[in-house]
Amino acid sequence: MSEQKKKPVAGRSRQELLRLIPKVDEFLGWVADSTLAPRLVVKSVVRGILEERRQAILGGEPVAASELSRQALVELFAERLARKLEPNFRTVINGTGVVVHTNLGRSLLPEAAMAMLLQVGARYSNLEFDLETGKRGSRYSLVEELLCELTGAEAALVVNNNAAAVMLVLETLAAGREVVVSRGQLVEIGGSFRIPDVMAKSGAIMVEVGATNRTHLRDYQAAINDNTAMLLKVHTSNFKVIGFTSEVPLAELVALAGESGLPVMEDLGSGCFVDLSRFGLAKEPTVQEVVAAGVDVVTFSGDKLLGGPQAGVILGKRCYIEKIKRNPMNRALRIDKFTLAGLEAILRLYFDEEDIFATIPTLAMLSQPREVVDRRARRLLRQIRKPLAEHCRVVVADVESRVGGGAVPEQGLPSRALALEPLTLSVDQLERALRLASLPVIGRIEDGRYLLDMRTVADGEVAALARCLIDAFVGRKR
Ligand SMILES: *Cc1c(COP(=O)(O)O)cnc(C)c1O
Repeated sequence: MSEQKKKPVAGRSRQELLRLIPKVDEFLGWVADSTLAPRLVVKSVVRGILEERRQAILGGEPVAASELSRQALVELFAERLARKLEPNFRTVINGTGVVVHTNLGRSLLPEAAMAMLLQVGARYSNLEFDLETGKRGSRYSLVEELLCELTGAEAALVVNNNAAAVMLVLETLAAGREVVVSRGQLVEIGGSFRIPDVMAKSGAIMVEVGATNRTHLRDYQAAINDNTAMLLKVHTSNFKVIGFTSEVPLAELVALAGESGLPVMEDLGSGCFVDLSRFGLAKEPTVQEVVAAGVDVVTFSGDKLLGGPQAGVILGKRCYIEKIKRNPMNRALRIDKFTLAGLEAILRLYFDEEDIFATIPTLAMLSQPREVVDRRARRLLRQIRKPLAEHCRVVVADVESRVGGGAVPEQGLPSRALALEPLTLSVDQLERALRLASLPVIGRIEDGRYLLDMRTVADGEVAALARCLIDAFVGRKR
């Protein structure tokens, strides 16, 4: 923001101003000794500033001669350099209350998984080496058995993400043939995953049946012909049709498909191993229930409700999974060793069903009672109340957290937030200052208040968050 220096050009011509711009080497001479940053970085910042000034003058923007002074340029350099040396990929504080927040990195990995990642990253491993036989092994074997034991599936495979999983299954089992799907399930997820588009790309022919709000078994029945490859069920994830609605239960689709010798695939989206209804969330079918219902292939994300790394898990009957494994496309969509390490660690945690609500961060945040969130909010309040007394009104308020990741979209979890009504800044300025802080804080504005839902803030982040808030009001201006 350069409002403070918007003096008119005061008679100086463009030519005169351009002549005030120092040469690159001169500018470098001013700053070279003040920093240990790599010379290439210093040079790029210097060049960037000079070019920006030149373009501003040529573009007729009001540039004051003082903005081209040595002091002004050196100050700007220090600011730009500091920003350039910060990594682009940074830690943020998630005050949105959306637990599986796609834009903020979805699931957080537990300590156990992080330890595995560090090990596997820094040392050689048996990624594709069978230690028993001494021969080449398969990377999938590291997690396949665990997945089968946990879910009851016959076979398993993991690829880069669920979008890849859906694409791969369709391409393997249905390219050039028809896939029957309900009109009520032609969903678009986030950015660019749309069932009709994925279907088209896979080479399968989509056959829509039923109506937007109601689809019946007889609709599927009528669509089956000699060119049908499979029946597809898609979890509608991020939307819900309410009112006069009906979808065919998976078990009925399985029975119908069985009569015709066709497979049934379900894209489960979030794919949870545990029933979350005891925390007040709507009952969703678990992966185990879907497998038990006789689905031939089911796919889901590793980093949504499962709480692991980004991955697409494919489970099902051995004959189909083996075919999918042999698809050359599988090689292009394969997961890396970090994903495998994180996924194996997460899966192992699931064997201890009582502990997962403590050990897996996604499940821990979802299952946290309102009172626990409230206590955290009050702790933060105590740390900022005095320092900010003159600057803003703060209370702890009732809010609703969201699961995120397209799971139970219409449902909120009762939660508690710090609600700030700034007095010395506008609420938009506060939001911006926090977002641009060196530890960025992401909250939301609602009814003129800035809200920080404390469900998605870790206990260990409270002190840092308090400092960010205080700095936003009384710290150095950016
Ligand atoms: C989230 C989702 C996907 C995409 O999964 P990614 O892991 O993000 O690739 C596909 N289908 C459904 C139903 C989903 O909810």
